[in-house]
Amino acid sequence: MSIRRRRAAARQEVAGDLRQSVRELCRRFPESYWSDLDSERAYPEEFVKAMTEARYLAALIPEKYGGLGLSLTKASIILEEVNRSGGNAQPAHAQMYVMGALLRHGSEEQKGELLPRIASGQLRLQAFGVTEPVAGTDTTALTTTALPRDGGYVVNGRKIFISRVQHSDLLLLLARTTPIEQVHKKTDGLTMFLVELRQAISHGLTVKPIPVMINNETNELIFDNLEIPASSLVGEEGKGFSYVLDGMNAERILIASECIGDGRWFVEKAVGRAGQREVFGRPIGKNQGIQFPIARAHVGVEAAELMRTRASELFDRGEPCGSQANMALLLAAEASWQAANAAMQTYGGYSFASSYQIERKFRETRLFQVAPISTNLILAHIGEHVLGLPRSY
Ligand SMILES: Cc1cc2nc3c(=O)[nH]c(=O)nc-3n(C[C@H](O)[C@H](O)[C@H](O)COP(=O)(O)OP(=O)(O)OC[C@H]3O[C@@H](n4cnc5c(N)ncnc54)[C@H](O)[C@@H]3O)c2cc1C
Repeated sequence: MSIRRRRAAARQEVAGDLRQSVRELCRRFPESYWSDLDSERAYPEEFVKAMTEARYLAALIPEKYGGLGLSLTKASIILEEVNRSGGNAQPAHAQMYVMGALLRHGSEEQKGELLPRIASGQLRLQAFGVTEPVAGTDTTALTTTALPRDGGYVVNGRKIFISRVQHSDLLLLLARTTPIEQVHKKTDGLTMFLVELRQAISHGLTVKPIPVMINNETNELIFDNLEIPASSLVGEEGKGFSYVLDGMNAERILIASECIGDGRWFVEKAVGRAGQREVFGRPIGKNQGIQFPIARAHVGVEAAELMRTRASELFDRGEPCGSQANMALLLAAEASWQAANAAMQTYGGYSFASSYQIERKFRETRLFQVAPISTNLILAHIGEHVLGLPRSY
């Protein structure tokens, strides 16, 4: 199918029932597809290809750059449905929100050159390098530097837990361009760059895979005098921290949507098992010890969805939504975890058997309490910015 016809078909789908279309795509990738990849720790190439061809990963790229130009509310439905199908949007989701920094702060030249290629799948922008071994959650303490040399920059330092680097062409990198001792505010002096990974690897960038408990390609990055051109700079030098903050609301709302999808999947699985499995001559779902945790988990998922929708609608209207985005992610991450535990208990010993998929999704949904942001930091935000309590860090 030509690019133009594919684009027209994708728009038609969006005009129709987006949720239904995503479900249909996901049916091509059954739970066995995900568990096979999980046991091999392999990247879901076919799934990412299908999501790219359907333009779902370009949902938030404006139509003039070849994307679908959808609202965040609609983009959220895409990721929710992927996780609800038993799949895992994690290997692909970053493309949806990482490109936001380029869209909002990139030059016209960068946008014109890169966004259409990202939208078509010719280029992947799946990697976002912020976390460092020493700085951890305190992003302002990061020590990776990008210092001017010969009209470009030279990068030195280390990043940790950076996802999808081996399956991405570009890395959005946050590095310090002005030493912390020379800035007024510690949030100043951090700068965003787009690094071409194929050129960087083995020319100053070493990528060391880190085995983790889920199927997420996770890496340590070591920068040793990596030279990048001046054209890698995104936006203004020194403003990178504020660009990261700008992108956080969309990221939190999208990840909350994945949690909601997980939560719904766990509740549906648990309800099915509770009604069908008979012990002591009756369905286990007759026991309130089994029934109530599932019902409670369902209530949690419903509440999280309300907050997610409130946050995404505010975002789409261009209104402040920082607190709502944070609350949506907290509620959704807790709801999916509660639902995961209810499903584990309902399945009993079978929940530990990989073929039932519960243990895989249980591991996957646990991540959202920690990354992209730990629930502690969300609570710190609410305490300080919503309730006016003293800053705790
Ligand atoms: C699978 C995976 C993929 C990831 N992918 C990426 C990626 O692609 N790009 C990227 O940049 N990062 C990525 N991360 C990193 C992730 O964002 C961080 O792990 C997370 O932000 C927490 O940072 P940390 O691990 O350094 O925890 P630490 O900073 O060491 O904190 C440990 C614990 O202490 C808590 N804590 C720290 N300070 C406070 C405080 N003041 N008040 C209350 N609690 C506090 C934290 O909330 C956390 O629970 C990934 C992580 C994982 C596990």
